[in-house]
Amino acid sequence: MVCCFTTLYSTVEVYYLSIKGRRKIDYECNLCKKTRILYVLPSLHHSVDEKGYVEYVDIHPCEDDRLNANILYVDKSMTVRSQVPVRVGDNMTAQEISTLQIPVPKKVDFKTAIIEPDKDFKYKNLKFLKITDRLRQTIFQLKEKSSGKTLKVTSELEFIDIEIKLAKSIDSDIAEDWLKQLASILEAIVLLDEEMLSFMALYLDPKISKPPSGESIIELDMILHAKSSFPIASLKSYATFRRQWPRIKSERKGTDFESYEKLLTYCIGNQYKTLLDIYFKAESAMSFLTYIDRIEDMSMLGLINIRKTEFFTVDE
Ligand SMILES: [Zn+2]
Repeated sequence: MVCCFTTLYSTVEVYYLSIKGRRKIDYECNLCKKTRILYVLPSLHHSVDEKGYVEYVDIHPCEDDRLNANILYVDKSMTVRSQVPVRVGDNMTAQEISTLQIPVPKKVDFKTAIIEPDKDFKYKNLKFLKITDRLRQTIFQLKEKSSGKTLKVTSELEFIDIEIKLAKSIDSDIAEDWLKQLASILEAIVLLDEEMLSFMALYLDPKISKPPSGESIIELDMILHAKSSFPIASLKSYATFRRQWPRIKSERKGTDFESYEKLLTYCIGNQYKTLLDIYFKAESAMSFLTYIDRIEDMSMLGLINIRKTEFFTVDE
């Protein structure tokens, strides 16, 4: 491993990098008996209730290949203390949960979390936002600024409802396409932090007037995972970047070498810094929206590999 930084990382090395320092959470699903594993950085394991449990969501093809979501309550020693299955279309009522033979560590009423608008959020098109999240039993809400036309969308698996108020000039069909994308990303996320919803609103507000592109969906996904994903680059990708720069520059107007180079440098050999941590390092040099745009560019060019925190199945 002497020359690890001078050669291209092999898949195994990248995998090793991505789990080094991580702690393992594993459990057997009560329904399908599959063993599911998640590697998580200890700093992401924030307790959310008085018992010190952390909630994770694991959606996977379960019994009869039906999708099932398990809400997991994990203690400080990374032991899964209980799992609450939520079937597609279920409404998790207190009564249903109390009939399950498991300890329920928190009450099942929805809690409300306020989405604090970012200092640059202008309420240009998005006048109000409310996300009802049945996986996390939380209503995330952005304070209403002024009235607008109401639009509601439910995610495919019916775990997420989104309600917004919109400026009258915005096409409802276009806005609905955005909300469907947003809902399906939220439905698949293992750990959600409401701070990222504030960044998401900042991103969505100016963009919602035009249809979502493939690139913008990737960016939306990156933003919502920014606290639990890790951008990794190697010296090899740095060399590739320098070589390809003339072409990158000609294809993307108004780009500057320094901002790309700086971000790439931050990601070389990265193991512990999340996408959001890297933004905070670069914050004085660029806005959040520019940052996301640059990272997406480099990810598409294969210069940066973004590792998400997500569950996988182990075959035994
Ligand atoms: Zn299962």
